[in-house]
Amino acid sequence: MSEQNFDIVVLGGGSGGYAAALRASQLGFSVAMIEKDKVGGTCLHRGCIPTKALLHSAEVADVSRESAKYGINTDFHGVDIAAVTAYREGIVSSKYKGLEGLVKARGITTILGEGRLTSPTTVQVGDDTIVGKKIVLATGSYSRTLPGLEIGGRVITSEQALTLDFVPQKVVILGGGVIGVEFASVWKSFGADVTIVEALPHLVPNEDEAISKQFERAFRKRGIAFNLGTRFSGVTQDENGVVVSLEDGKTFEGELLLVAVGRGPSTQGLGFEEAGVTVDRGFVITNDRLETSVPGVYAVGDIVPGLQLAHRGFQQGIFVAEEIAGLNPQVVEDVNIPKVTYSDPEVASVGLTEAKAAEKYGADEISSYDYNLAGNGKSHIIGTTGSVKVVRVNDGPVIGIHMIGARVGELIGEGQLIVNWEAYPEDVASLIHAHPTQNEALGEAHLALAGKPLHAI
Ligand SMILES: Cc1cc2nc3c(=O)[nH]c(=O)nc-3n(C[C@H](O)[C@H](O)[C@H](O)COP(=O)(O)OP(=O)(O)OC[C@H]3O[C@@H](n4cnc5c(N)ncnc54)[C@H](O)[C@@H]3O)c2cc1C
Repeated sequence: MSEQNFDIVVLGGGSGGYAAALRASQLGFSVAMIEKDKVGGTCLHRGCIPTKALLHSAEVADVSRESAKYGINTDFHGVDIAAVTAYREGIVSSKYKGLEGLVKARGITTILGEGRLTSPTTVQVGDDTIVGKKIVLATGSYSRTLPGLEIGGRVITSEQALTLDFVPQKVVILGGGVIGVEFASVWKSFGADVTIVEALPHLVPNEDEAISKQFERAFRKRGIAFNLGTRFSGVTQDENGVVVSLEDGKTFEGELLLVAVGRGPSTQGLGFEEAGVTVDRGFVITNDRLETSVPGVYAVGDIVPGLQLAHRGFQQGIFVAEEIAGLNPQVVEDVNIPKVTYSDPEVASVGLTEAKAAEKYGADEISSYDYNLAGNGKSHIIGTTGSVKVVRVNDGPVIGIHMIGARVGELIGEGQLIVNWEAYPEDVASLIHAHPTQNEALGEAHLALAGKPLHAI
């Protein structure tokens, strides 16, 4: 039994927790980070990084199938899933090593074990009491399911989907949000027959409707089937496969059912409520400066209601460390956090959709311009279609950017600067975009909104 004292104790070593720990140590605090599994959390080990490695393998499969279109003759011999796994695991383990080295170099004390909040200043890990003047809760999230839908056998979540040692021939995916469509994209490129079931009226339903519709057209063209607007009612499974039923009586068969209906907060049984922390449906409620109902106890990442994204966790972690240090950091609202869906095609957005902008400012007070990537040389060269849509307040700043097409995720860096710096289209129009790049499409959309289109009508 021992007691260790620190300035800051971080519970959970994922994106949010380790960012808080890194920034806090940089600011001169003594920091303990408690992690029950592996530092890096969901994003590094089961989320962002391994899925993007899979998507890259999928892209290479498609490129090799279509290479003759570009005058290069190759033969596609299929997917070597063991080699795909080795490549994916290699990326993750190298990033993991790097992160462990960084945490060590910053002098952070990593405590391996499951922690439980036992008071506003203590976390219990086994027999050890870890005391912090401030506590940061960062215990992350898990794959949710629906009431009555049990995970097991042929009914899997993204964790199992990631580590399959075979390519399924036929899959049903429940959920057309980011995780569902990314796996749909991978499996289709690997040769599977894929059907997505989404209860809302669109795939990627949180995006601007014009983008969702283009996304659906692109998936349809790729031969990815989907059923929209009807809810799931049940699934049966046997040694041959699964049968998924919807409320309207339709059924879909597959070898597997991937359940991708969102992620729930990992907060149960961790002592949060007993210590006085307000929790609502499992999420930790904070004020806009990420302090919980218990002074000195903060929360970051997926346990805080809102967008569940790694870079939001990073930003919140940095924010809390700076807040504790009295640096008065700036609050970034969720709406201005960039979002990327890394399927083929990619979707990237920041700020308000056109519908939300019209709701907030009035339909007559906003304008938008949708630049078709058909007019963009680089997009044509790499064989992609899509668009860049920019929404502005009339005589005011850009408040939303929505893009679809191959590689548009790489354009969102500029998009988020424009929205977060509240740039006017006229400001952006006078800045130069290199030719030929896909970035030019952003430039062209702003030129058009500023009333001086170049390569657009
Ligand atoms: C398939 C998939 C793909 C994704 N792709 C992307 C993407 O491309 N881009 C993106 O931005 N986001 C992506 N995400 C989301 C991203 O992974 C999460 O938003 C991010 O990991 C949240 O960080 P976090 O620190 O809140 O939680 P987590 O990363 O979940 O970390 C929480 C950590 O706390 C530990 N922990 C929990 N309880 C305890 C305890 N009691 N004691 C000690 N340790 C504990 C856990 O072991 C874990 O390591 C993806 C997620 C999934 C599932």
